[in-house]
Amino acid sequence: MPQIRVRFAPSPTGFLHVGGLRTALYNFLYARRNGGVFILRIEDTDRTRFVEGAVQNLIESLRWAGLDYDEGPGKGGSVGPYIQSERTAIYKQHALMLVEQGKAYYAFDSEEELEAMRKQQEKLRIPPKYDRRALKLTPGEVKQKLESGVPGVIRMKVPEAETIAIDDIIRGRVEFESDRLDDQVLVKSDGFPTYHLANVVDDHLMGVTHVIRGEEWLPSTPKHLLLYRYFGWELPAFAHLPLLLNPDRSKMSKRRMQDGKQVDVFVEDYRKRGYLPEALVNFVALLGWNPGTEQEIFSLQELTEAFSLERVGKSGAVFNIAKLDWMNSVYLRELSDADLIQRARPILEEAGFANTSDAYLVAVFHLMKDRLNSLDDLVSFAGYFFKEPETYDDASKKKNWKPETAGHLHLVRAGLLSLGTFDHAGVEGVIRGVAESSGVGGSRLIHPLRLALTGIAIGPGLFELMVVLGRDTCVRRIDRAVTLLG
Ligand code: GLU
Repeated sequence: MPQIRVRFAPSPTGFLHVGGLRTALYNFLYARRNGGVFILRIEDTDRTRFVEGAVQNLIESLRWAGLDYDEGPGKGGSVGPYIQSERTAIYKQHALMLVEQGKAYYAFDSEEELEAMRKQQEKLRIPPKYDRRALKLTPGEVKQKLESGVPGVIRMKVPEAETIAIDDIIRGRVEFESDRLDDQVLVKSDGFPTYHLANVVDDHLMGVTHVIRGEEWLPSTPKHLLLYRYFGWELPAFAHLPLLLNPDRSKMSKRRMQDGKQVDVFVEDYRKRGYLPEALVNFVALLGWNPGTEQEIFSLQELTEAFSLERVGKSGAVFNIAKLDWMNSVYLRELSDADLIQRARPILEEAGFANTSDAYLVAVFHLMKDRLNSLDDLVSFAGYFFKEPETYDDASKKKNWKPETAGHLHLVRAGLLSLGTFDHAGVEGVIRGVAESSGVGGSRLIHPLRLALTGIAIGPGLFELMVVLGRDTCVRRIDRAVTLLG
């Protein structure tokens, strides 16, 4: 059996979508599992949709996710270049071969003519399709138009009344009626190939053995099958992956809210929000594929060992953000201190907390890690570790801040200042002592103290929290709260 070669072939039209990450991942896993080669190919022939910087971002997102490719931009390989805009001559030459053999033809219709044709077909209630008027041109007329520079396209000639079928690895046999296919444009008037031509030519020339891609490309597949036939090339195997869906089963296309949580569609957004790549990769691996066991947490290595296309389902996969958050928290809790520091630094820096020490960051993390869903939560929900509270929770203020509170906190403050070592036992002793000497229950001190120190009513254990904040910060925040809350 020849070596397995697969490719991820994104168009650089923007950031990498989580669906794109899933496609890249399945290709990567399939290659690794089978001792194959994973290729990255950039499909940038649609110049109207090209986005500056998108290629760099795609490569960066794959690197972040740990999906190393073997051949592709920046890596090289024996069948490059791997960027389609650098291969236009190859496509043109292949299209001309088909023209010569009568399997494709030149057409010179203007936009207006095509529009009028569509309108007419609409009126007659026939499916919109190119009516092949260009086939009436004689070879002499075509030659003359080409020589005088009339802009033209090359279209493929689709056979009439034929059933075209594939045996998809995931979907089984899928049939298409050729009569429903348009004479697809292969080369546009700007000289660039369309996706269909470039994709097939490259899959062949790059020796791709398995085309693993999203279900949205299934309708294009019969055109590709015809091209393979016209060129006389052997077909690769096809596997069309199920769509990614929102919980209401609509297609997942842009950012939205799900149970009060933000659901993003771009890998970049998850990266920025402090999700760990291991967690996102583990999560998208299970969008469509299942291991056939109860196991849910998989390292990339474990995925490689367990993955098979046979265990990918055909029905749409629902993107459940609560599950991603859970997975992320599992991975977060396992982070080493060194890893944590490296990953949390950029988030702290972006939030303006660059001068936090490593030791302090680690202490905050250990105190909070069971409550975090993502590293971003360090600054969003536990921001009070890094900056003074700016506001004080109203409900807690009403309930817990009494006229005598300032007096009690004053005693706590004095006790903290006189402590030998500022540790858990010492802090607890001070608070219990003040509660006893003032004849109030501990909770009459703990709630207002938490409010004074953090501005909110929930959080980790108060004594542990105070030890992490440190004596100076506790004293300063007590003073500030007493001034502001009276
Ligand atoms: N360029 C297409 C995309 O953006 C590739 C589809 C395919 O894999 O054939 O997804």
